[in-house]
Amino acid sequence: MDWLKKFMTGRYGGDQLSNALLLLSLLLTLVGRLTKIPLLIFISYIPLGVCFFRVFSRNISKRSMENYKFAMFMSPAYSWLKKTQNNIKESKTHTRFKCPNCKSKLRLPRGKGKVIVTCPKCKTKFDKRT
Ligand SMILES: [Zn+2]
Repeated sequence: MDWLKKFMTGRYGGDQLSNALLLLSLLLTLVGRLTKIPLLIFISYIPLGVCFFRVFSRNISKRSMENYKFAMFMSPAYSWLKKTQNNIKESKTHTRFKCPNCKSKLRLPRGKGKVIVTCPKCKTKFDKRT
């Protein structure tokens, strides 16, 4: 393993963008195999080649910047995924609804019976069964 350590010294290595490129390559290969479209399998070598180029690149600052731009590009998708994950987890313990006046999103713990809700935004009071 000493030769690998020596070989990788000064090289960029893996990051999120490389992982995404590898995943894209695997997906294209899988879809190409399942649909029997050889062009997809051929195209899947492109992200794989870019992934290898990035991992073994010695231009660390440029690769870091590419990964930073990728992370900025993907951050809305990550935050949506995290929010959806939280909503699913919370749906067992909390109920979500909209204020009838200002339509802002509100949430209450489940199983509390009929409660009087005061909207924190518009201060409208209304009944809600949880
Ligand atoms: Zn309101």
